[in-house]
Amino acid sequence: VTYYLNNIQTKAHLNAFVEVYAQSALQQAEQIDEKISKGKAGKLAGMVIGIKDVLNFSGHESNASSNILKGYISQYTSTAVQRLINEDAIIIGRLNCDEFGMGSSNENSAHGKVLNALDESRVPGGSSGGSAVAVQANLCTVSLGTDTGGSVRQPAAFTGVIGMKPTYSRVSRWGLIAYASSFDTIGVFSKTVKDNALVMEVMAGHDEFDSTSSRKPVHHYSELLHFEKKVKVAYFTETLESPALQPEIKVQTEAILEKLKAEGHEVKEVHFPLLKYTLPTYYILTTAEASSNLSRFDGVKYGYRSPNAHNLESMYKLTRSEGFGEEVKRRIMLGTFVLSASYYDAYFTKAQRVRRIIKDFTENLLDDFDYLIMPTTPTTAFKFGEHSGDPVAMYLEDLFTVQASVSGVPAISLPNGKDQNGMPIGLQVIANSYKEAELYAFSNYLT
Ligand code: GLN
Repeated sequence: VTYYLNNIQTKAHLNAFVEVYAQSALQQAEQIDEKISKGKAGKLAGMVIGIKDVLNFSGHESNASSNILKGYISQYTSTAVQRLINEDAIIIGRLNCDEFGMGSSNENSAHGKVLNALDESRVPGGSSGGSAVAVQANLCTVSLGTDTGGSVRQPAAFTGVIGMKPTYSRVSRWGLIAYASSFDTIGVFSKTVKDNALVMEVMAGHDEFDSTSSRKPVHHYSELLHFEKKVKVAYFTETLESPALQPEIKVQTEAILEKLKAEGHEVKEVHFPLLKYTLPTYYILTTAEASSNLSRFDGVKYGYRSPNAHNLESMYKLTRSEGFGEEVKRRIMLGTFVLSASYYDAYFTKAQRVRRIIKDFTENLLDDFDYLIMPTTPTTAFKFGEHSGDPVAMYLEDLFTVQASVSGVPAISLPNGKDQNGMPIGLQVIANSYKEAELYAFSNYLT
């Protein structure tokens, strides 16, 4: 804990942590030392973990990096975090992110931007940018992020660490401040596959507080990392031939496919004609869900209330106008539009239908193949400000991550070399629903 607290201090300018629980972390460490000496310590004894600023942690502020939740103190602890504490993990602090998880560069945060530790003029990715940099820069062993459309995998790729998004419903969402409830997942950043698997197996599993959480048994992922079989791997022509793809990423991805072939695995090219529909489907459905989820922030129940209000109507208006940032407002407007009576069928219903087609395609493919491989992102970490004026260019960063989110299947990003500027490249591996154990074992083989 002392080691990490020192690192957090010397690297404070990276702005990864928005709050550090130094005192309680040191106390917890002492108690755990005692437990260890008595042979009574939990599975995660002494593991130092940072949590994204969207997870409730009783008695601590949690504000989704939004001004509208400034000063909001959690009344309870999210299930994911509680399960880590139950196994003697040490929660060292709260990590910066894009407001309500909306963004791909961590530039949309009320706490300011997070710097990529490898090149401080570049973004760390988003929305879980703080969580990625915390692991990248050795500010904690493991961190929690959330992945709605790529927010764990994309920043993992940009910072050169491992980032895992589990199957939708594998980890309880109780206590997670919602962005888009039918997409939101809680994921893990780490430097090793084993740490990642261990934390995931502790968090996963049914929770009576989240009726959508799966009742399927959870395997001991961290004990199932041995891999020696021959597998079937698919890759898409449309991703490798995409004009948006940075050439060095294509080269590095092809190198992995060649290596797998050489090692006796079956590697096959498959067409994915639906690729161009994945992003529009994702952004129509997530903005719709966000506009509904965020309607609860009205100045009455949580956080900020505008001091300039003079009646009920103006309290709603001013609180929301002053409290939400630009990107969040844009999404609330988009979501309200696609849900409005005259456009509901043309956009929302249609997007739901397309989602089903993409999900069916993905699941069927993953019945025939063990894994699907593609780059995590079309580019490596870009410079601050490069996409800020152009939301569509920013949304394009999610081109390869949203398929797994729309389909609900698990996906991981693994470091796969660097580009000519020395920025890390991410390799994405996708498996069928609830195949976390298989995904971790294959990742262990690939890294
Ligand atoms: N960049 C995507 C978005 O802005 C993903 C966000 C996420 O996964 N939370 O919606």
